[in-house]
Amino acid sequence: MSHFDFDPDSRKQLLNLLLAKLENYYAQTKNLKVSSDWNVREVKDFVRTLSFQQVNSAEAVVDHVVQGMTNYTVHTPHPNYFGLFNPRANFASILADLITATFNPQMAAWSHAPFANEIEQYIIQEFGKKFGYEEGSIDGTFCTGGAESNLTGVLCALNHFFPAFNETGIQGIDKQLVIYCSSEAHHSIVKAAKMTGLGSQSVQSIPVNESLAMDTGILKKQIQADRQKGLLPFLIVGTAGTTGAGAIDDLNALHLIAAEEKMWFHVDAAYGGAIITSDKYRNLLSGIHKSDSITLDMHKWFSAPMGTSVFLTSHKNILHQSFRVKTNYMPADGDPDQIIDPYLHSVQWSRRFNGLKIYLPLAIHGWKEYEQLIDQQIDMGAIFKKRLQEKDWEIVNHSPLPILCFRIKGTSNEEMIQLVNNITHTGKAWLSIYPIRGQHTIRVCFTNYSTTLRELDELLELLEKARNLKR
Ligand SMILES: *Cc1c(COP(=O)(O)O)cnc(C)c1O
Repeated sequence: MSHFDFDPDSRKQLLNLLLAKLENYYAQTKNLKVSSDWNVREVKDFVRTLSFQQVNSAEAVVDHVVQGMTNYTVHTPHPNYFGLFNPRANFASILADLITATFNPQMAAWSHAPFANEIEQYIIQEFGKKFGYEEGSIDGTFCTGGAESNLTGVLCALNHFFPAFNETGIQGIDKQLVIYCSSEAHHSIVKAAKMTGLGSQSVQSIPVNESLAMDTGILKKQIQADRQKGLLPFLIVGTAGTTGAGAIDDLNALHLIAAEEKMWFHVDAAYGGAIITSDKYRNLLSGIHKSDSITLDMHKWFSAPMGTSVFLTSHKNILHQSFRVKTNYMPADGDPDQIIDPYLHSVQWSRRFNGLKIYLPLAIHGWKEYEQLIDQQIDMGAIFKKRLQEKDWEIVNHSPLPILCFRIKGTSNEEMIQLVNNITHTGKAWLSIYPIRGQHTIRVCFTNYSTTLRELDELLELLEKARNLKR
């Protein structure tokens, strides 16, 4: 008999023990230091204290892991974490991950997990409609993150223009292809170029304008110049909410250029796409419904645990065209008008039920909760901007999203790094440095739903203290 199952009493005991520990972390996150200074040796040694040459009690191992996670992690669920788009996971989506791990449905084939697959399809259709795609044209797939979603976008664009791409690959195309994105775009685009065989040199980085959005005038000229050189422009990637400074490219203008030039138009809305839920701010994404495909991360502003992203497209058949394969060991193809087999439809094969992590919060709280959150956090961004300005900090970016990049006028990059380090070393907040036009700025963003005006007060106080220290 295998010990893997434990017995019912031990299971209950272990779950109770774990729940108490998790609840303690979840309820008391604010009391922890957001981050600490770690000694690499110490972390490595701690990890290796338990050996696999022996058996250990489950309680001891769980205790060891919770201790390690508590001591050696930047606590992104902390309300004073103002870093990248890593919000606290909402509780409903944590329940979802627990359900998923227990049932462990194999999502590769529809027939193995009809309920789970239909949930993901439901989510994909609902989001497609939210973004304004025409019903009947919507398709998509759950991905592990924005990087995979962006890779999927590049593959769809290739298969759309080169129907033989599946067979010949890049070697069947006699011209050098070009992808265009702004210099502020996410580097997963470059990675996608590497993985598809296009190579990083195929990515043409277009300079940005005052608001850090792609300069569409330069884009047009660059496309012409590249055509004259005999290159083949095929894909424009617009970003809706850049990772650094929250800039939103002019999606209408980019769509027009893509349409004129007969190119695929992909929108990387990994972070900013969440504002589609807001009646008040949705217009910031104006033009997104004309895109060919969209990347939307659920593990960013939608506060699902890691590993949850959606790729959406307005080309009903392109995913199937891009990823279909024939095997003799998978369950037979279903009717593609009725059902979708994800393994014929995406980069992944065996797949986790990631869609539940967005289904559960939506089914429990509705769109409304997300809408209120987005509105409230955008308001918090505006409030904090005003307060920084009142205190004479120089705001360098001008995003409508709650990301602020600011600095002390006339200071060096070194001094800005020092100032941020002084704050993060206290463990009272986590923020980062982002360079804009060669100048280091302090970057803070509000994506954590547990961050309130109180945390904004605390942040301002820390900033003021660090600035005074410098003087
Ligand atoms: C985070 C991010 C990505 C990458 O997404 P992952 O989920 O980290 O793989 C891509 N694009 C943008 C704009 C992002 O902010």
